[in-house]
Amino acid sequence: MVKQTIQIFSRIKPSKKTTAVYSVDNDEPTGAFLEFLVPRDQAEGFVNNKRECYKFRFLKVFDQAVKQEEIFTHIAKPVADSVLAGYNGTIFAYGQTGSGKTFTITGGAERYSDRGIIPRTLSYLFQRFSQDSSMIYTTHISYLEIYNEMGYDLLDSRHEASRLEDLPKVLIMEDPDQNIHLRNLSLQQSANEEEALNLLFLGDTNRMIAETPMNQASTRSHCIFTVHVCRREPGSATLRRSKLHLVDLAGSDRVSKTGLTGQLLTEAKYINLSLHYLEQVIIALSEKSRSHIPYRNSMLTSVLRDSLGGNCMTTMIATIAVDKRNLDESISTCRFAQRVALIKNEAMLNEELDPALLIARLKREIQSLKEELAMLTGEQRDEQLTGEEIQRLEVLVKAFLEDPDPDVTLSMGPDMRKIQHCFSLLKIMIMGKQSAGNRHSDGEASPGNTVAVIQNSPRPAAEMTKLKEMVTQRDNEISILVKMLKREKKRFQDTGDQLANTPNGQSPASQSALRPAAGPPSREGSLDSIPANHGGQAIQLKKRDPQLSMGKQEAFETFMRDHEDRVTVEHNRELLKQRSAEARRIGEKLSEAKNRINELKKQLALQRRQRAALSVTENCPEVEAEVDPVEENLCKHIEQEKKFYKSSIGVLKALRTEIEHLQLLLERAKVKLQRDFHKWWGLEASSVQESEATAGGPAGSPHRTLQPPLPSPPALCSERESRADPEPKPVFSTAVGDLRRFAPKRVPLAAAVEAGPEETPGQRRTDPPSSEWRALSTSKLSSSIPLTGDQQTDADILAFVQARQNLLNRTGQLQ
Ligand code: ADP
Ligand code: MG
Repeated sequence: MVKQTIQIFSRIKPSKKTTAVYSVDNDEPTGAFLEFLVPRDQAEGFVNNKRECYKFRFLKVFDQAVKQEEIFTHIAKPVADSVLAGYNGTIFAYGQTGSGKTFTITGGAERYSDRGIIPRTLSYLFQRFSQDSSMIYTTHISYLEIYNEMGYDLLDSRHEASRLEDLPKVLIMEDPDQNIHLRNLSLQQSANEEEALNLLFLGDTNRMIAETPMNQASTRSHCIFTVHVCRREPGSATLRRSKLHLVDLAGSDRVSKTGLTGQLLTEAKYINLSLHYLEQVIIALSEKSRSHIPYRNSMLTSVLRDSLGGNCMTTMIATIAVDKRNLDESISTCRFAQRVALIKNEAMLNEELDPALLIARLKREIQSLKEELAMLTGEQRDEQLTGEEIQRLEVLVKAFLEDPDPDVTLSMGPDMRKIQHCFSLLKIMIMGKQSAGNRHSDGEASPGNTVAVIQNSPRPAAEMTKLKEMVTQRDNEISILVKMLKREKKRFQDTGDQLANTPNGQSPASQSALRPAAGPPSREGSLDSIPANHGGQAIQLKKRDPQLSMGKQEAFETFMRDHEDRVTVEHNRELLKQRSAEARRIGEKLSEAKNRINELKKQLALQRRQRAALSVTENCPEVEAEVDPVEENLCKHIEQEKKFYKSSIGVLKALRTEIEHLQLLLERAKVKLQRDFHKWWGLEASSVQESEATAGGPAGSPHRTLQPPLPSPPALCSERESRADPEPKPVFSTAVGDLRRFAPKRVPLAAAVEAGPEETPGQRRTDPPSSEWRALSTSKLSSSIPLTGDQQTDADILAFVQARQNLLNRTGQLQ
């Protein structure tokens, strides 16, 4: 529990008029002082025996030049911090009309830098929530207006164009424990700063519309903006709930205001009845002997009961307008503050227990207490476990290990001997498994004589293994890609008539499937082009999966194009694009509407001021009471704009939900695609390996394998020739293109590719192979890589094979 008196601060509104004589002293170690001097000669002709100097102590006095930022840092931030810690907090502004209460609590409407305590606190709270990922925070907002002892919900959706008096009333209910509950006051959840600010904006607009010259709500009503924060640690049974009331009180103006002469500085009556009751409560609280505090006399004091002498850290800001004519009001504001400063509050951490989580915790506790009890009352025990007990433990441990449930527990009772025995059983098992695993992996790593190489080599064995794996992986890749390419060719032939219509004889499908990875960055039709600008959840397979080699990426694209989910994914992606654009458009409209509302509000305020001035100058107060058509019209306009604003927010919310949903769908589709692809790839790879194994090496491969070079390299083919080629010429270079630079320059490897597709797989050239090709084809390590029949492609493949050979040669040198 934290015991603390209500903290009082004072803020002086900037003034262009002649001000009363006052001084501010913030340097005192015990606080700050605000002093007013009342010149004796003001009461001319009287024997003036009144005080001349009025000095008031505050925690700090903020003079005219102080900006909103500083007010927030000094006053609101500490309260917000205690709310975050789980204490209730209240900040209320008290002062005469026009002294800057609304400016301090809510802020000025014009400039962003004029934001008051509410928007700054919301921003601060949500920023802190996002920084603390160890807790789950939920926030609700309520906005209550009290006018004439009646409560109104400023966030009530029925607030359309009604007069304040016609709205449903918020009622105070008290439970048997004397806790206050407010019926008809809505609590609106806000997930982020933007939503909370929207609520503030809507509430303020409602307040403005409901105001009439008769009720003068903004000066005669109290507004309580409350942020309800709930904080929970994931998995914990305890919750912390705290409330932060930010209160803009009615003007503290008093009836008897006869200026500095005559009834100077006497206590006059409040215009506002509930402020009168507030003062009574404060007087009662500041007098130690009083046992009864008249909270129930008014709605304001009932609602703020905890903030005044209860479970809350409360701060008051006395707003002061130091114009000469306001001197008496300023002094009575300070007097009020001095009384408030005497009130002691006792703030408590509002911790609650979540019943369901509590039950689970209690059950665990009961179990462990039972075990402890058993241990204390104890069965008789020997030094050693009996054979039967050991056997039972072995069965338990085995069952524990075999149970697939990750939450399964191994309970052998409150017996240290048994616990230790189980641990040693587990240790034995784990060590046994490890040594078996080592033996197993040793066996795997010894195909042929490579192991010997690795073991004898001065190079790290890990590097050699990595190289070996790379070679195998690339072998598989090429085989799979070649198979795909063949399928593509077949497909291409099947759709021969379509082909005739496409330029270059290339089918669009093969173009997209085999476009180089280094090609243009925008890849229409590939999943990785899904826009990433919405929550960053776009599908970016390549970026997310760095292990995917280029060949595999190519394969992925083709795989994806044929995947059954593709249409749905494309559709969703298109929808997401549309929705995002729509959301942006509505967002823009929303901010335009907001600006229009602010503009209309300004006009309304101006109109009201002018009418008030008119009624004073022409001395006919009834002018103010009459219905003003201009004002009515403005209100109607604001109302229309507000309706539009609200409906747009509704649409935007629905869109946001849809966008998030679409993003989730796409994310899910991506995972599925990746999983399907990896499965398919694995199957393809193993089938390649199998066929290789059954064929017993390159010579027996069912595919076309490495062939000796042709007399004329395709590099020398003319453009015309290559265009005349009826085969589509997919640029396969992506998969292996990078590897081409490994190829020895002096032999044009591309030339080593056998000719056209008409040759059957079994056919062999009889030309004597060049020495390079002999080396390749006779090498033990050369693989049974199939060729495609496409010269360029096969050249690439062979370049790769050469590179691979070089790699293996390096290994050979080490032998
Ligand atoms: P109250 O709510 O106490 O009746 P307001 O907050 O509406 O008073 O302030 C009256 C006028 O003075 C408003 O136009 C407001 O913008 C301006 N004002 C008040 N305090 C300040 C300040 N610290 N700096 C600049 N303008 C202020
Ligand atoms: Mg105000």
